[in-house]
Amino acid sequence: MSTPSSSQQSSTRDRFAQQWHYRPETPIDINPLFQWPLRPLAIGRWFAARWLVPGENMVLLGLALISWFWLQPSLETTKVLSIDWIATLYIRNLLLMIAVAGGLHLYFYTWKKQGQRLRHDPRELVKSGKVFTFGNQVRDNMFWTLASGVTCWTLYEVLIFWAMANGYAPVLQWANNPLWFVLLFPLTPLIISLHFYLVHRWMHRPKIYPIVHKLHHRNNNVGPWSGLSMHPLEHLVFFSSILVHFIISAHPVHILFHMMHQALTASTSHTGYNGLDIGGKNRFALGTFPHQLHHRYLDCNYGNPEVPCDYLFGTYHDGTATAMEQLQAKRRAKAQAQGS
Ligand SMILES: [Zn+2]
Ligand SMILES: [Zn+2]
Repeated sequence: MSTPSSSQQSSTRDRFAQQWHYRPETPIDINPLFQWPLRPLAIGRWFAARWLVPGENMVLLGLALISWFWLQPSLETTKVLSIDWIATLYIRNLLLMIAVAGGLHLYFYTWKKQGQRLRHDPRELVKSGKVFTFGNQVRDNMFWTLASGVTCWTLYEVLIFWAMANGYAPVLQWANNPLWFVLLFPLTPLIISLHFYLVHRWMHRPKIYPIVHKLHHRNNNVGPWSGLSMHPLEHLVFFSSILVHFIISAHPVHILFHMMHQALTASTSHTGYNGLDIGGKNRFALGTFPHQLHHRYLDCNYGNPEVPCDYLFGTYHDGTATAMEQLQAKRRAKAQAQGS
């Protein structure tokens, strides 16, 4: 491996610092559940920060419960495929997507309520660029999110609710196992994280990338509509995590939570901001810096720190300048190996 000179090192560090307007406290932690020795207090703090304070998971759980009680056909109804209940699901998902991505876009980018506070990458979203459908980043992102993303999200729900109703997928009731019923909620983001790493890493393979994943990476900088802006084939792969419930029994409310988590946190994690700044404090965590780094550099952070596969497989960028230097050194070694 070639050794970088000290001037090379300092220019990497300087460039890295200049590229980011706001960086959260680094190094960014990984889930202590996957670190040895186990630290029960740290694990407790990790999950408490995600489940016991106002945040995405609480909102999603609330939305899943509201949907289940008032906006979801019964399994009796989903036994037979019918345009009536499929349309209910589709319209509900469409409105949820517009409310979340549209609301965040208006807040951060149209009304600029937060200015540049907590913004990772200060560059404007692209108003005119040939690479984008309709020549505009936001219109491109809205089109792929709404036309393909919401459709695929709904089709997977149709499949699983129909399968549950007809006995092809197992159904969990509260009375069967209340503890498991509750635990399945915090387990869901971990299942999603593991699945995301595996499929995302696969989509970066040179033969797959240009067909399936390049469309998402039109977004070198991101906004709330970028998260679910994907090629239809990527949507098919991305949402396939739900198929795990053909094996692991779940209640329909878990399915709603899982699918909303996939679709809606795609938007919140791509806001480009680290959170909602209210009164000078980050009151509601949003964008994830590791994934923002992935959009800029491509060859790191294929997953997220919930199940830290990147850490295990040596592709984790923890947000520090040192991690940037290590990434550059890896690239140089790879280029040298390919050249020799
Ligand atoms: Zn992304
Ligand atoms: Zn990617």
